[in-house]
Amino acid sequence: MDCLFCSIIAGDIPSRTVASDDAAVAFLDVAPFQDGHTLVVPRRHVPDLLHHDGELERIAPLVTSVSNLLVDRLGAQGINVVSNVGEVAGQSVFHLHVHLIPRFDVEPGFD
Ligand code: ADP
Repeated sequence: MDCLFCSIIAGDIPSRTVASDDAAVAFLDVAPFQDGHTLVVPRRHVPDLLHHDGELERIAPLVTSVSNLLVDRLGAQGINVVSNVGEVAGQSVFHLHVHLIPRFDVEPGFD
């Protein structure tokens, strides 16, 4: 099956890894909404949050640890945690992923 995130996880397409564990890989979004915008993606291909066969629970520890990294290392004061489900909601890659978008009191680049 042709899947962009499966190819990234397999190492066939380069990405900037932030962290990983047995269940999931976290890498920087190629078109970030904000510096540090990270995607957490299960190693196993499942399409979305409504069809995840337990993968949502399995990726939760990495979602949490990367969120902590964004706070501790980037100084984020908040984080948008988003998963688009379905084309009508803006999903463009049909391999479950959670966007972690760090937010800052003063957004970099807007002063
Ligand atoms: P949307 O494109 O509307 O954000 P998704 O929620 O499906 O839809 O998110 C897919 C994300 O994957 C996008 O934020 C996009 O920038 C990101 N992306 C696409 N190609 C790559 C890539 N090669 N490496 C890292 N991120 C990628």
